[in-house]
Amino acid sequence: NNLKKYFPIHGGLLGRTVGHVRAVDDVSFTVKKGETLGLVGESGCGKSTTGLLVLRLLEMTGGEVLFAGQDVAGLNRSQLKTFRRQAQIVFQDPYASLNPRMPVGDIIAEPMTLHGIAAGPERTRRVEKLLRLVGLGPQHAGRYPHEFSGGQRQRIGIARALAVQPKLVVCDEPVSALDVSIQSQILNLLVELQQEMGLTYLFIAHGLNVIKHISDRIGVMYLGKIVELADGNELIQNPLHPYTRTLLSAIPVPDPGAKRKRIILQGDVPSPANPPAGCRFHTRCPECMDICSKEEPAFREVGPERFVACHLVK
Ligand code: SF4
Ligand code: MG
Repeated sequence: NNLKKYFPIHGGLLGRTVGHVRAVDDVSFTVKKGETLGLVGESGCGKSTTGLLVLRLLEMTGGEVLFAGQDVAGLNRSQLKTFRRQAQIVFQDPYASLNPRMPVGDIIAEPMTLHGIAAGPERTRRVEKLLRLVGLGPQHAGRYPHEFSGGQRQRIGIARALAVQPKLVVCDEPVSALDVSIQSQILNLLVELQQEMGLTYLFIAHGLNVIKHISDRIGVMYLGKIVELADGNELIQNPLHPYTRTLLSAIPVPDPGAKRKRIILQGDVPSPANPPAGCRFHTRCPECMDICSKEEPAFREVGPERFVACHLVK
């Protein structure tokens, strides 16, 4: 609720704080048990930061995160440990996120040790089961990360996240670093695992093409704010926010005769240190009106579970 993360900017000889990057600026959403909520937006829009705030891997500047009704910021040490077990993350870069000096069996076993979940032969058995679950054989346990392809490494990253039997998994662009041919394999694996284990996903991506297939609901972010939030099909069929329409137009249409035209935005994304007044999208919006540079549109519910922040939408 009303999540904010402002990073200080230091400047001058004394390194004083001269401003703030408003990476996440008043963002509210719910992720329901067992669903996938997709968060989409260009790089720098605050989606990864939002994921880290949800997991309390980054301290928020303002707002609150409730996990099963419990205020995550107020957790004591032992409650935080339980929360860490229940809420896991799969990172974007399967190259950087695995310790190159550890055999993958140990990488997957480590969180079980940390959380006192299993030890000895039971832990070994669980590691083998996890390796099978993510489509790698147990015979791989003794091999090192560099011996695996990108897609296989991401499978290892997923196995590690699932080792502690979490409820919520934040998937931070888990397929962006992978070859297109491998992406759908990993997405399918995530969907299968979700069904098997009853997982809830907060799924972060920079384009709609990846998340439209796996998200129940989708939130679109621009410059630190959610500008539209809706059921996934609704959002794709009937996008209300001009920025959502832009993202949609970037998805290749299989039929070359189809009428969807790619919308190319003018200019660069403004700096989140100095966001435009009024609607933050007004400097690039193809449908900008007079009011847009003056008044910030409220993020309003315009239908059942359908939210949008745009002056065009009545
Ligand atoms: Fe475009 Fe105005 Fe809507 Fe912002 S409020 S998205 S500038 S039409
Ligand atoms: Mg990111």
